[in-house]
Amino acid sequence: MGILNCDLKRQFSQYQSEYERKAVEVLRSGWYVLGEEVKRFEEELAGYLGAKHCVGLASGLDALYLSFRALGVGSQGSADRKRMGAGGADEVIVPANTYIASVMGITMAGAVPVFVEPDAYYNIDPDQIEAKITERTRAVLTVNLYGQACELEKISKLCQKHGLFLVEDSAQSCGAQFHGKFTNHYADISCLSFYPTKNLGCFGDGGAVVTNSDELSRLFRIYRNYGSEKRYYNMVVGVNSRLDELQAGLLRVKLTHLDELNAERERLAMNYIKNIQSKHVILPEVREGATSVWHLFVIRSREREALMAYLGEKGIFTIVHYPIPPHLSEAYAYLGYQKGSFPITERLADEVLTLPLYNGMTGDEQGCVIDAVNGFAP
Ligand SMILES: *Cc1c(COP(=O)(O)O)cnc(C)c1O
Repeated sequence: MGILNCDLKRQFSQYQSEYERKAVEVLRSGWYVLGEEVKRFEEELAGYLGAKHCVGLASGLDALYLSFRALGVGSQGSADRKRMGAGGADEVIVPANTYIASVMGITMAGAVPVFVEPDAYYNIDPDQIEAKITERTRAVLTVNLYGQACELEKISKLCQKHGLFLVEDSAQSCGAQFHGKFTNHYADISCLSFYPTKNLGCFGDGGAVVTNSDELSRLFRIYRNYGSEKRYYNMVVGVNSRLDELQAGLLRVKLTHLDELNAERERLAMNYIKNIQSKHVILPEVREGATSVWHLFVIRSREREALMAYLGEKGIFTIVHYPIPPHLSEAYAYLGYQKGSFPITERLADEVLTLPLYNGMTGDEQGCVIDAVNGFAP
């Protein structure tokens, strides 16, 4: 028997007839890009998250880099700084321990990433942010990694104190909360991805931004359609980053089930936490005041490679999220960091391992994984 790390057929079959009905409806409608389904989905997701606006885009990465563009954070430096004769690109504070797309969102906008090491929950350490703030810092990009909310109370206060924008990468955390509020509540802009494996995943690519600002929302709508609000009247050099009707329709179906889907993940995660007992493994913990939507169930082991091979022999597929931290990737060699620059992040890259967890995972499958992990004796 083989157990995939994430079996997307299962989540499809959970609500198959609803998805199929919606797909046929959209196919027969004759309208395929930016239409009624997108509009309704944006309203429904904004409503769910308690935000004023949601703008559908083509991907999570687009959501990130267009956010910095909309905020005027990039290569030009702030108008204030220029007036004072100080040049240089803007800086954005970002966790060193993240998926590389977070960092690409910053650099695509022309800004410079400034990395901060993680805390015990693998998220940005709120107590190490202030020391990284310079006169060039314009924003903090938080990432609710693996589905868990960051310490958003402290971080949002810090941003207010220093006049910084707070953008969040919620690609992995749609539905996660801090102190009883959805994470977007604390941020100027929240960026979402609907990549199929994400908790609110579609059946292709998709993304969105969520904000309470009328002005930012209008900018995103202009950017995503070649810089035009009125057809063939282009105000700025925009991009093509549109959500299509089919994905939006399918996302509307999934959104009605998101609470159940996240609750199912929570049950699976709690089952792992309760039943995995191994001195070779460190289990994930959730910070007081935060919730996790368990996008990924990530354990740690000093014998990670051996554990991975052992589970693989038993047909259990594990993945490392992520083996190379952004600061050590070839893409960011130009930033000039070396091994040892961010030791906590680098150690996590050597120790983390993602166990299978997906909607529709059976008790038997999970039992297999638990028994295998508990039987690991290197
Ligand atoms: C998936 C993901 C992204 C990018 O989303 P895409 O839709 O694939 O562009 C960004 N950040 C994080 C943390 C992600 O997990």
